[in-house]
Amino acid sequence: MLNSQDCMMLEDRYGAKNYKPIPVVISKAKGIWVWDPEGRKYMDCLSAYSAVNQGHRHPRIIKAMKKQLKSLTLTSRAFHNDRLGPFLKKLCDLSGFEVALPMNTGAEAVETGIKIARRWGYQVKKVPANKAQIITCTENFHGRTTTIVGFSTDDIARTDYGPFTPGFVTIPFNDPKALEKAITPDTVAFLVEPIQGEAGVIIPAEGYLKQVRDICTKHNVLLMTDEIQTGFCRTGKMFCFMHDDIKPDILLVGKALGGGVMPVSAAITRKDIMDVITPGSHGSTFGGNPLACVVAEAAIDVLVDEQLDARSTELGRYFLEGIKAIDSPFFKEVRGKGLMIAIQLTDEAGEARKYTEALKEKGILAKETHVHTIRFAPPLVITKPDIDWALAILREVFTLS
Ligand SMILES: *Cc1c(COP(=O)(O)O)cnc(C)c1O
Repeated sequence: MLNSQDCMMLEDRYGAKNYKPIPVVISKAKGIWVWDPEGRKYMDCLSAYSAVNQGHRHPRIIKAMKKQLKSLTLTSRAFHNDRLGPFLKKLCDLSGFEVALPMNTGAEAVETGIKIARRWGYQVKKVPANKAQIITCTENFHGRTTTIVGFSTDDIARTDYGPFTPGFVTIPFNDPKALEKAITPDTVAFLVEPIQGEAGVIIPAEGYLKQVRDICTKHNVLLMTDEIQTGFCRTGKMFCFMHDDIKPDILLVGKALGGGVMPVSAAITRKDIMDVITPGSHGSTFGGNPLACVVAEAAIDVLVDEQLDARSTELGRYFLEGIKAIDSPFFKEVRGKGLMIAIQLTDEAGEARKYTEALKEKGILAKETHVHTIRFAPPLVITKPDIDWALAILREVFTLS
């Protein structure tokens, strides 16, 4: 077996440098814990950017996948498969929508949402040809395709990838007035994350989603929420929009829908909106494959049956209060909703990377986002004793260094 050094050297030599990983190699995982080839154990406080909400290798998900491997894995959508229908029904019932379009990665779900919104704009709202506009927010993160990075405000993500797809307008996040001002007769959708994850767990003011919902309704604009990171119990509800007692028009999901095993994503909406998508107008070879469908059904069952929404609420509060109670000169703000938590460091604290590497040395894997923020988003199957263990380490790292 290769040791950690060998693995990192091979990646470094043969891989593109599009990431700057914490220098740790993971070769085994279970629940909230991961191990390196030397047998060192770490607590996973990133959960693959919330794609492992159910915990690593959840037995029920692995079992469902193994069973499916014995019968069918891929058909393409040229033919029906016996797993797609049940999966779509489960996903719609869970989210309270009528229809879903399955894809693989989150970025594909976002691209799908953009296509649906534009077509709806032309065919239903009657926006003139090629004039459709979609409003997005500053500091957004919706994925890595050229269209999506085109409306990113992060220079690192977009520099020298142009020319970009036109038809996007950017407004400040958490600013309903700016939304109302930016809407024109050609606006077809407002694309927004209920909580901005990659931006550093930026939580909008109470009532923000409700206000943007009302504005979108008033102006016949589709509210399209990207819950690829906030969905599936991460923030304490099955979907983050459920905190606000509203419903978006298009819901984009991914990450934890794949149970930490497979890429599974979807754009979910009402039938009258999805009807603009016709045979041949959109698709994906792997989207809706039977293996992914079975995994996603099991991933949903785990969230529901283990009541991970309630657990995320309760343990999220416990973890957040625990971090807030640490008397650290380096904390500017500690914020979170459910088990989506971030520490924002003071300018004097230095770069977050220093702390994520120190945490790694003591057995906690967390990732900095931007220069001064560290996100803590462990799998939702974490327990109170696990959190107590983590808090003791956080106390050491943030009060001594
Ligand atoms: C991760 C993420 C995406 C992109 O998902 P990929 O599977 O990496 O393409 C889109 N939106 C949000 C909010 C995300 O967190």
